[in-house]
Amino acid sequence: MRPEALNPLFRETETLDGVGPKLMRPLEKLGLTRVRDLAYHLPERFVERHAVADLDEATVGENIIVALTVREHRSSAGRGPFRVLAEDARGNVCAISYFGRAAYSGKKALPVGEQRWVAGRLDQYGQMLQIVHPDHVAESASGLAGQVREPVYGLSEGMTLGRITGLVQQALKVAPELPEWCEPGLVERMGWPRWREALETAHRRMDPLARDRLAYDELLANALALMLVRMSNRSQKGTPLVGDGALRAKLKLPFALTGAQARSIAEIEGDLAQAAPMLRLLQGDVGSGKTVVALSAMLIAVESGAQAAMLAPTEILARQHHETLMRMAQGTGVEIALLTGRDKGRARESILMGLLDGSIDILVGTHAIFQEAVAYKNLALAVIDEQHRFGVSQRLLLAKKGRRTPHFLAMTATPIPRTLTLAQYGEMDVSRLDELPPGRQAIDTRVVSVERMDDVLGALARHLEGGGQAYWVCPMVREGGGDQGADDIAAAEARYAGLKARFGDDVVMVHGQLRPEQKDAAMERFASGGAKLLVATTVIEVGVDVPNATLMVIEQAERFGLAQLHQLRGRVGRGQAASVCLLLRGAELSETGRKRLALMRETQDGFRLAEEDLELRGGGELLGTRQSGDTPFRVATLEQIQKLLPIAHDDARLLIERDGGLAGERGEAARLLLYLFERDWGVQLLRGG
Ligand code: ADP
Ligand code: MG
Repeated sequence: MRPEALNPLFRETETLDGVGPKLMRPLEKLGLTRVRDLAYHLPERFVERHAVADLDEATVGENIIVALTVREHRSSAGRGPFRVLAEDARGNVCAISYFGRAAYSGKKALPVGEQRWVAGRLDQYGQMLQIVHPDHVAESASGLAGQVREPVYGLSEGMTLGRITGLVQQALKVAPELPEWCEPGLVERMGWPRWREALETAHRRMDPLARDRLAYDELLANALALMLVRMSNRSQKGTPLVGDGALRAKLKLPFALTGAQARSIAEIEGDLAQAAPMLRLLQGDVGSGKTVVALSAMLIAVESGAQAAMLAPTEILARQHHETLMRMAQGTGVEIALLTGRDKGRARESILMGLLDGSIDILVGTHAIFQEAVAYKNLALAVIDEQHRFGVSQRLLLAKKGRRTPHFLAMTATPIPRTLTLAQYGEMDVSRLDELPPGRQAIDTRVVSVERMDDVLGALARHLEGGGQAYWVCPMVREGGGDQGADDIAAAEARYAGLKARFGDDVVMVHGQLRPEQKDAAMERFASGGAKLLVATTVIEVGVDVPNATLMVIEQAERFGLAQLHQLRGRVGRGQAASVCLLLRGAELSETGRKRLALMRETQDGFRLAEEDLELRGGGELLGTRQSGDTPFRVATLEQIQKLLPIAHDDARLLIERDGGLAGERGEAARLLLYLFERDWGVQLLRGG
């Protein structure tokens, strides 16, 4: 149960004034379903408006507030805007334009013959001054007094700035004073305001101190929760697993382990021998050879007379893993079964029996393998592929599966910089596969200006004529988000049409707005070689493996994050033939953009790219350009993470160690903080001991 003090923050947004079902749709899209979310929906920036006596005082492009007298309403034929012609005190004429249904509100707000104060951005349309969709219209100057400086919030379709500002204000009004959870010395040294004041300030002006404080709260909550997980894990009883090596000796691998693989296996072996359950993350790029490391770990469990289970994020990957493991473990006599949501009836029953009587040693599957009905004789190790889809709270459920808590190995192919690893996986020990198996061909990566499109198309034509396949990637940076998303899809569709005109029916396309069947059908045609060119937004799924596709063109490469580019590029270079990746860049490129693309050309090391990307982006790239899913945080920016996370970690440790687990006044406050940032499981662990 959440402490009462937080109740007003966790009410549904629907309980606020003026919010009906219609407004809930866009609110949900923005993730603003509760009052708390609104309070933390910080402005992307602020508009500063210049109040002018007349339009001669204003410059085009400026945000202004000006008094205008309405002269004429002019509806246009067809799809043009509805225009209101208005005059300032000196007789300068300005058009106030409304598109689509907004015309109605414009007509009402600006009656002919009346004077109104209008706030908006002054533009020029031909010879005419114009304000398109003014932000505010008021009947008196005082009506706009509060609008001289105004927050700009992230919006979605169906939501206006005025609406969201009103809702945020309501949220702030009900936000309670909360006790201080930050270390008093730190607050003083940093000059930070208290929580509630910080929140209000952050919505009123760009105030780095207020923003830092709010970000720090989030980082502290995260650090505390991860540390509590670690602490509680240490106090649990697991089964020490010391294999005799007999099964591992029977493995007939067609290759020698890389140094990084051998090191990781040794680290895992050391953990498994302990009574405290292992909590380890295995990080390694696509192709770095994580599977054989996982298999070795599972064999240690089986050698010790216990069972192991491996969870994959999708059905297809589960099947692939099952096949791979069966192939590798041939001749060891180890029984490996597959269980997915699709298995029903007798087949499923027999697997459940085998797990219970211990005749199955290793189970591979989707989330079905940890469902209620699945009982193990002696589950001692759980391996989870692609950890980021499997949260800590789910892991706590998993802990109840064995008689003792199973050892836990998470695997991820996402290279994450060290600072972020700490933020995301701070409760775990980390093994890194930072070395690819030998013999991999480097991908020849080149940066080409979009002005050389003809050459690129020529190279593509030669590649396809030679029997090769290729990917063409179009940017889709803001998935599903507002108008920009629509623009990206339109651009991708246009490119697809152009490529089809040139290369005929050999071209297929996938993007996020297709139905799954359509997507599958296109992918299938490409994978089977029926289609030669796949045009895609960034939705090329993990696990796509088409060795014959050895050319990739990425359009507007400067718009992608380096990590994203790296993942995309990993789709080529999978066969024996040399692969090429062409990064098309815009005609104009910022200094940072140039550096980032140069880095792509220079290295194929995912970890290095991740580190440098953080460095380049952290250093002053605009707020709001970060990609969702980059970090587990909504408030803290990359820059703040780098600056404040180490402090938050130290403070969390002190708080827990000194007070023996969140006792005392500050401890109580810190519990509130955990709830505020929805690390409820942290508190539960504390209770469960
Ligand atoms: P990951 O899961 O990390 O993406 P995999 O485990 O699927 O990578 O391995 C990728 C490929 O590399 C597989 O074909 C695997 O058999 C092979 N491989 C793994 N380790 C080595 C090694 N040490 N030497 C050569 N090939 C290896
Ligand atoms: Mg893998």
